[in-house]
Amino acid sequence: MVSSIRFPLPIGRVIIPLMAAPHEIGPAERDSQETELRRIVNLTPQMLAVMEPDGRISWVNDIVLDYLGISLANLKADDLRAPIFHPEDVETSENRKQAIARGMPFEVEQRLRHKEGKYRWFLIRYEPLKNAEGRVIRWYGGATDIEDRKQAEQALRRSEAYLAEAQRLNRAGSWAVRPRASKAHYWSDEMYRIWGFDPQHGIPDWQAAVERVHPDDRDVIRQAVEQVFEGHVTVDSEGEHRLVMPDGTVKYLHGLAHPIFDDAGNVVEYIGTNVDVTERKHAEEERERLRQVEADLEHINRVSMMGELAASLAHEIKQPITAVATNAKTGLRWLQREPPDAGEIREALSRIVNAAKRAADIIDRNRSLFQQDTPKRETVNLNEVVREIIVLLQDGANRQSVSIRAELDGDIPTMSADRVQIQQVLMNLMLNGIEAMKDTGGELTIRSKRTEGRQALLSVSDVGCGLPGENADHVFDAFFTTKAQGTGMGLSICRRIIESHGGRLWACANTGRGATFHFTLPSAPSTSSTTAT
Ligand code: ADP
Repeated sequence: MVSSIRFPLPIGRVIIPLMAAPHEIGPAERDSQETELRRIVNLTPQMLAVMEPDGRISWVNDIVLDYLGISLANLKADDLRAPIFHPEDVETSENRKQAIARGMPFEVEQRLRHKEGKYRWFLIRYEPLKNAEGRVIRWYGGATDIEDRKQAEQALRRSEAYLAEAQRLNRAGSWAVRPRASKAHYWSDEMYRIWGFDPQHGIPDWQAAVERVHPDDRDVIRQAVEQVFEGHVTVDSEGEHRLVMPDGTVKYLHGLAHPIFDDAGNVVEYIGTNVDVTERKHAEEERERLRQVEADLEHINRVSMMGELAASLAHEIKQPITAVATNAKTGLRWLQREPPDAGEIREALSRIVNAAKRAADIIDRNRSLFQQDTPKRETVNLNEVVREIIVLLQDGANRQSVSIRAELDGDIPTMSADRVQIQQVLMNLMLNGIEAMKDTGGELTIRSKRTEGRQALLSVSDVGCGLPGENADHVFDAFFTTKAQGTGMGLSICRRIIESHGGRLWACANTGRGATFHFTLPSAPSTSSTTAT
């Protein structure tokens, strides 16, 4: 803390002439006057002192002695070099000496040591008593305890420093404006930093500040600022604008202004903030750019996936449509019989209905996959699904010399799932397994199990060529395929389906040959497990 010294004394002369000049009165009179005055001065809480022309103490009131815990004799002997002043206030003591030499009233702020060792701040005023020739014959001193004020100042300085630091961290500047002024009367340090003005040159007038606003925002800001400076804004206002800095960089600011009213309801002041939101803006722009890239990619993905989908849909749907045509022909033939065979015709028609339904199911399933329809949920027993798919794939597997074995846990929980989607997953995994063994033949094993967490775990294990590459998880990437005719979509769709059911799908290389694909599915909330054979 820097102590200060001030000239000239700004207040009227208040020091009581404790001791008149010796030539003016006789000794007896002087003694009685002195005793009386001494009594008076000892009644005041103020510290008072009388000093020689060179500043040496000649007398102090009891308050001083009591505070310092020192006798007058010692105080005199120490000649103020005694540690009654704070060691850091050397400069003030030096200034005091010079001021005494000048012989003009002055005041200093200095710390005095209390008898218990602590220092307190005092404002010490010095008043010279001069003779007719203008020579100093005594000094009078009065010290007022200003410790509380100093503490408050220090606390204020500290909180101002914290505020400035917080403003710097938040890149938030603050300002204050009085209506009808030409410039703000307060700018925080951060305001200068944000706007790029030098605090040494003071607050710029508002026209100069507006010149720094981006040309595209300038008119709007000029109008808004004019309104504020004319005191026309009576509500809180906020907005964003840009600055163009002298080096050409652009900053984005978010501003707030708040009017303060007097009792008559007139605006007397505005206080406001300017927050530099450039980084946030850039991050937002970057996010938007990434979102756009993602959307573009997604679109490209969709387009190519739709192409693949159309091809596989055409392939899948051909079979039920062929069945419809064949059965329709059969029905027609039975109609042409004399008499028409109603039983055969009914059967052909119901086969047509089934095939048409299958075609509709295929279309629905594909649509729901790509349009993110809410999947249809029904209670599904996984073992039943396994058995259905085994029936479907059995012939194809036989042709590839692949046998299918099922180890199904009868205690598997039922689940609430989209049956067609789960069939699709299982079929995909089994077809992949069969395909992996097409050159060697082998056994495809389907296992179902109930996990400890009441989930159903299903695994499809083959003894085929094994997973490609180091990272088994790549096989789930869209378009990842090692097959000449592959689409690379099967596993990524399967994973999407399983995850949309709250489950997990993963692959592991077998210790021996081949690979195993596992998936879990959570059980239906309030359904008890069914026993399957
Ligand atoms: P596709 O079968 O059209 O290639 P998938 O997404 O179903 O698409 O499979 C992606 C890739 O994962 C396959 O090309 C193959 O390399 C690998 N893969 C899938 N299943 C197996 C398996 N059972 N054994 C070895 N590799 C497999």
